[in-house]
Amino acid sequence: MPQKQHTVPVIYKDGQSTKAIAKGNNVAWICKCDGLTLLLGQAGSDAQVTCDACNSTFLVQSQEDGEQVLKVVEL
Ligand SMILES: [Zn+2]
Repeated sequence: MPQKQHTVPVIYKDGQSTKAIAKGNNVAWICKCDGLTLLLGQAGSDAQVTCDACNSTFLVQSQEDGEQVLKVVEL
């Protein structure tokens, strides 16, 4: 069965939040540093993503089963 896309929050260190699009354990969002840089993450073993433009590091958090992205948090 195809997995549905859903939106999950991206929480920045300064308390701002934006939205990411998640599908299964994959997630994509635009970094707020320039509003252009597309970041792609995956829940699971390789859950950290660094923005090339601003060097911020994000952690993709998933539900306990590891199958669904829950949120993205800037570290
Ligand atoms: Zn950035």
